[in-house]
Amino acid sequence: MRRFMPGLRPLVLCLLALGPGARVYAQQPATASQVLRLMGCRFELTAVATTDTIAWQAIRAGVAEIQRIERLISSWDENSQTSAINRNAGVQPMRVDRELYDLIYRAKKVSQLTHGAFDISFASMDKIWHFDGTMLSLPTPEAVAEARQYINWQDIELNPTAQTVFLRRAGMKIGFGAIGKGYAANRAKALLQALPGVQGGLVNASGDLISWGTPPTDAGWVIKIADPKNKHQVLGWLQIGDMAVVTSGDYERYLEFDGVRYAHIIDPRTGYPTTGIKSVTVVCPDAELADALATSVFVLGKTAGLELVNQLKGVACLIVTDDDELFSSTDLQLNYYSSSTNN
Ligand code: AMP
Ligand code: MG
Repeated sequence: MRRFMPGLRPLVLCLLALGPGARVYAQQPATASQVLRLMGCRFELTAVATTDTIAWQAIRAGVAEIQRIERLISSWDENSQTSAINRNAGVQPMRVDRELYDLIYRAKKVSQLTHGAFDISFASMDKIWHFDGTMLSLPTPEAVAEARQYINWQDIELNPTAQTVFLRRAGMKIGFGAIGKGYAANRAKALLQALPGVQGGLVNASGDLISWGTPPTDAGWVIKIADPKNKHQVLGWLQIGDMAVVTSGDYERYLEFDGVRYAHIIDPRTGYPTTGIKSVTVVCPDAELADALATSVFVLGKTAGLELVNQLKGVACLIVTDDDELFSSTDLQLNYYSSSTNN
């Protein structure tokens, strides 16, 4: 574990976007970039291509792909296959598209890897915890315990032959809030990458981002990390190639009761939201894995979280605690603007 100097107190973490609005540059190669709302959050797509037309075609294809994925995995949309699985909890297995089946299969693998810290069946807690400013007091321990008993990734039954998903117990519910944006970013990237004439790009799903190939300028793909104390100041930056950089931790979505700050991530062991960590950034080649791991580290906490990340080849992370202290895994390549830091 590398601990940073107390002088570097302030935390992170909004990844600064590359720029506002939609625009096209006249140079070669051509770059198109668009910001829009998808999956209930801010997305930015950038495509570098041989011509403007191709760059814009790529952006449109990426947007359509993300919208398609949203229709499949949303647990808010009653018509999605995910909602059908939830409605049939304890009733019957549901046949779903291979794509959704595989996503759930991979989510269960992350549960296994994290000893249940990551669990898409956290969603049974939806009715207890609300992170929209409407909660005025903590729920009763009885209410938390009652809802918590339905969290168990091992009760998500998958049948590969029938391609069905069955939540074994009535009251169970799944949700992809911790992995869906990363998955969508991966898929949009793969689609753009396969288009003839597209040389590089970036998909940024509200801080879950992945880049690849030729960058828009000689500066390369530079991911800036803002100092949350002053959003206009940059704390440090990462120079990345084909890589995902994913941040969990939304400063507007937390609860505070009796001086305790609760993040919007549920600890499946207790049914309570996690405490102690403000944000986690994970860097690895896969946005879906990075997304799932960033959420997992919140639950595991600083020590166990860093231990896990340090065991995973090609994965690095940065943790900001509630005390505004920074901790990183052993191989994080973060650059600092300030010369007083011990990077
Ligand atoms: P992220 O911002 O990627 O960390 O995702 C946070 C979202 O993941 C929450 O808003 C929930 O929808 C969902 N979630 C909360 N707790 C868990 C958990 N323990 N495992 C998986 N998903 C979770
Ligand atoms: Mg996540």
